Amino acid sequence: MRVYISVDMEGVAGVVHVDQTRRTGHDYERARRWMTAEANAAIHGAFDAGATDVLVNDAHGDMRNLLPEELDPRIELISGSLKPLSMVQGVGAGFGCALFIGYHAGAGSRAGILDHTFYGRVVARCRVGGRDFNETAINAAVCGSHGIPVALVTGDGTVCAQAREILVDVETLAVKDAITRYAARTLTPIVAQERIREAAARAVQRAQEGAFAPFQPPTPMNLEIDFVNAACADAAELVPHTERRGGTTCGYAAPDASTLVQVIQAWTILAGSTMV
Ligand SMILES: [Zn+2]
Repeated sequence: MRVYISVDMEGVAGVVHVDQTRRTGHDYERARRWMTAEANAAIHGAFDAGATDVLVNDAHGDMRNLLPEELDPRIELISGSLKPLSMVQGVGAGFGCALFIGYHAGAGSRAGILDHTFYGRVVARCRVGGRDFNETAINAAVCGSHGIPVALVTGDGTVCAQAREILVDVETLAVKDAITRYAARTLTPIVAQERIREAAARAVQRAQEGAFAPFQPPTPMNLEIDFVNAACADAAELVPHTERRGGTTCGYAAPDASTLVQVIQAWTILAGSTMV
């Protein structure tokens, strides 16, 4: 089975603050090594369970965080941005399952470490079909459009609960529990990596047994984003077929999940350009 792995950073054990997740932050260089080690743990678990090959996508910030020279040499890495499918670039027919490592709760969550959806500076809330959709849900829908189920989500306890609520049948592993947005009770990196390896192996094994269904929300997908202010919505509205649904709210009827991700990216890049 071919396995696809998307790796974010906010949900990595030990990470609780933007000082660790921003390239200019004091603790960034240390935290990116934890992120790389958690990616390796998932890779090793996938191969333990019989994966034939593994594609890893760096899915955080500028998407150049994972240290290629420290990654298991059996994999291939997608690094850098911009990518049309963003956090799930490269997923497509032929993969048997996807693993989401280091993921975080959606914008507007209570007690989710560094909760946001795609671009935290501009997105206050993101819904699809009237339900809150976090990055796990949106990226799972892209995987699902290719018939690929998400087998494992790791991060804090809040994103794990959100993943089980929306995907229902999925393995989750909490490596920390958020106390507030910037505080958590966390496993140490070594222990988190051991558990991620075990969880990835279990998830890939179960995927081979057909345990997980692809996440396929009905189309068209009714996307709605509440931006942090009206200037952001003014800019997002420039994207053709965008509907302005309120002072800070834009809507879009996305015919498929790939379009959903592309519209979210176009909106947030335009909205970000208005920030002063
Ligand atoms: Zn991130």
